[in-house]
Amino acid sequence: MAAAQSVQTAIEPSRTIADRLAAVRAEIDVAARAAGREAASVDLVAVGKTYDADVMVEAIEAGQRVFGENRVQEAAAKWPALKARWPDIRLHLIGPLQTNKVKDIIGLVDVLQTLDRESLAEALVRARDRGASLPELLVQINTGREPQKAGVVPEDADAFLARCRDGRQLPVGGLMCIPPAEEPPALHFALLRDIARRNGLAQLSMGMSGDFATAVRFGATMVRVGSAIFGARAAKPA
Ligand SMILES: *Cc1c(COP(=O)(O)O)cnc(C)c1O
Repeated sequence: MAAAQSVQTAIEPSRTIADRLAAVRAEIDVAARAAGREAASVDLVAVGKTYDADVMVEAIEAGQRVFGENRVQEAAAKWPALKARWPDIRLHLIGPLQTNKVKDIIGLVDVLQTLDRESLAEALVRARDRGASLPELLVQINTGREPQKAGVVPEDADAFLARCRDGRQLPVGGLMCIPPAEEPPALHFALLRDIARRNGLAQLSMGMSGDFATAVRFGATMVRVGSAIFGARAAKPA
């Protein structure tokens, strides 16, 4: 993980979520200006996975409205009540989606960032054919060609995008990537930006707690930030 970027957002448990949100926003602002961009062109997606609804409420009360979850089950348990209370909340699914769970995200998730394969594209088409209104879609690109990671490999991206957009008329608005943890992320961000540009896609979801400032410099329109806002997550049980 590229730890070097995040000076202001280093995790200090004594600070409140409102403080940490403000620090992340300030860092986005600085990076955007340095790149000649408006800070408002970058959506901060607060990744609340593993944290309870009452922790989300702290962020909501601090003005945050865009959130990310990586598991459908957790999203479905946490967000319907919060969305009922704050209807302007936008929820992004940023983790893998099984085709048989597509029905569970309809009406819950506003942006699906992880369209990563033909079978999922087909399942979305079937849901639409049954009358579902689909979320906005981002195609996940496996920029590092990591076998254990989801996503379309870069050399297949243009053809997959064409099949989703022209063939299936799916509402694809952009791309998302999760660079390999052990590599400097800049080359991956640049690759994602180039694929988006040549395909005329506006949205670029890239950058996490350790590297969101770099991502903003490379054109991110969405950064997905979890631990820098909510604190370190407990390690997953084995
Ligand atoms: C958890 C997660 C994030 C946020 O990670 P942090 O390092 O805690 O900011 C971003 N993107 C995805 C896909 C995630 O699963």
